[in-house]
Amino acid sequence: MEIMKGIGVSPGVVICPAVVLDAEDLVIPRRLVDVNSVDKEVARLREAFTKATDDLNVFRAELKAEHGNDIASIFDFHAGLLKDKTLLNSVLKEIQTSHTNAEYAVSVAMKKLAGTFLAMKDSYLADRVKDVYDIEKRVLRTLIGNAHEGLLNLQQNVCVIAHDLLPSQTAALDKNRVKGFACDVGGRTSHTAIVARAMGIPAVVGLGNVSSAISGGDLVIIDGTRGVVIVDPDADQLTEHEEYVRQYIEFEKELATLKDLPAVTTDGHAVTLMANIEFPAEINDALDRGAKGIGLYRTEFLYMASVIEPTEEDHYLAYADAVRRLDGRPLVIRTLDLGADKYIFGKGPSKEANPFLGDRSIRMCLHNLPMFKAQLRAILRAAVHGDVRIMFPMISTIMELRQARMVLNDVIEELEDEGASFKGDVPVGMMVEVPSAALLASNFAREVAFFSIGTNDLIQYTLAVDRTNERVAGLFTPAHPAVLSLIRDVIRAANRQGIGVSVCGEMAGEPLYTLLLLGLGLNTFSMNGPDVPEVKKIIRSTTTEHARQVARKVMSFDSERQVVHYLREETRKIIPEAF
Ligand code: PEP
Ligand code: MG
Repeated sequence: MEIMKGIGVSPGVVICPAVVLDAEDLVIPRRLVDVNSVDKEVARLREAFTKATDDLNVFRAELKAEHGNDIASIFDFHAGLLKDKTLLNSVLKEIQTSHTNAEYAVSVAMKKLAGTFLAMKDSYLADRVKDVYDIEKRVLRTLIGNAHEGLLNLQQNVCVIAHDLLPSQTAALDKNRVKGFACDVGGRTSHTAIVARAMGIPAVVGLGNVSSAISGGDLVIIDGTRGVVIVDPDADQLTEHEEYVRQYIEFEKELATLKDLPAVTTDGHAVTLMANIEFPAEINDALDRGAKGIGLYRTEFLYMASVIEPTEEDHYLAYADAVRRLDGRPLVIRTLDLGADKYIFGKGPSKEANPFLGDRSIRMCLHNLPMFKAQLRAILRAAVHGDVRIMFPMISTIMELRQARMVLNDVIEELEDEGASFKGDVPVGMMVEVPSAALLASNFAREVAFFSIGTNDLIQYTLAVDRTNERVAGLFTPAHPAVLSLIRDVIRAANRQGIGVSVCGEMAGEPLYTLLLLGLGLNTFSMNGPDVPEVKKIIRSTTTEHARQVARKVMSFDSERQVVHYLREETRKIIPEAF
């Protein structure tokens, strides 16, 4: 048994066998194998080379049938290398002398081979390094392929263990079978964590080396509430956690009874609870949990789930699907927020030194107008079917907002000229997630129909804390008085101007902050679907006056510790079983 401590990012407990996922573009973890298992690794390796060769032959035959010999012969080099005894022997030697797992031995040997090609003066030969990488992936895919294929076609419930899960990989998981995540890296608002919460499954990140400590098939307990992963639990641990799972299910059942009840305080003040989604398919579950619409549709996931750039039609189909599922309820479509941690699988992370401060989000869209316009056209076309609103992310200057609106106006003119069916007068809002926008909220409020406060990025940029870095996760908190005063001012500015305002960062779904946000004058919350019932329960158990008192007190504190301590006490007064 081994107990590992990380950051619990999605609550709940799950007990099931592990599947260890080694992403193609990530480092293959080194695992030492004992002497008796060396032969097994050698056999796995030989089998992988044979299978890779067979697969390649099938692929070449298909290419030949479709495109003729010229294209198929490009892969002769691959076939030759796979047959090459020197290569196979160098991998075998790595396993036998260093006692490592076959995957790791392949990556070491291939790196050496790639180095040899790169050093060649002849540019044709140096270019062959790409073929080396290709073959490496082919062999690795066959070695770890069981895990990959298994993830698409799982026969039993599993927990997924990985170094990191790219948002695109997370999005592609079989949601009916994957019951928990555990990753080596990541923080509370990393997108993997957000997706885990949206899926309502327990997750722990920032565990350091969980992907090398666990082998496929090991029994694990993932405790997302306490941030603990237990590998190979003993009988006592199992009994204790099985009981915990049972209690958790009971609690969920109790919350489910609130589904059709309104989110009103005991003195009759109504609040709107909306949900955040990454894919239209999540809408039904969000409505089932009691959400009244979608306050944040993270459309960049359309890009991340695909290896090719989505067309205007792909965008349109996704948005029209979302509108149809909502049946008249509001849908806030956020325009593409790509870049930084939300990069596209296959293209890899940005090469910029500081991608979070770089060419991301609205900046990237304004630098790539065809991409931006294709999305805006699709939104306006889908808007004829329901209540659609547009939201621009990461706005940091007023000019950026005006430029984005100009592009929108151009798109409206183009659609008009084409005689297309579309709706031009959709409400346009913006995310307030950069301190400059929060500080100038009164100015921005004059130019938009609504604000949505993105606390995930607002915290990151206000406190200079990377939201994905587990080493500084302790510093990442909405309770910091500087963050709270920005939130208060943005809500005030919006209310004064009479425009809509919501919070759509993770803070909106954390029950600890419900009383405070309510007391600061927030009337719309947008959160992951599974968080809706608990937040509703708190709203239904308090009065506006109580929430205001709580907010006044909180704003007098000068440390996040005081804030958290006080909010926990106040919330427990009304809901003793909270947290
Ligand atoms: C935020 O920053 O709070 C937000 C909601 O956007 P995202 O998490 O997608 O960056
Ligand atoms: Mg953001």
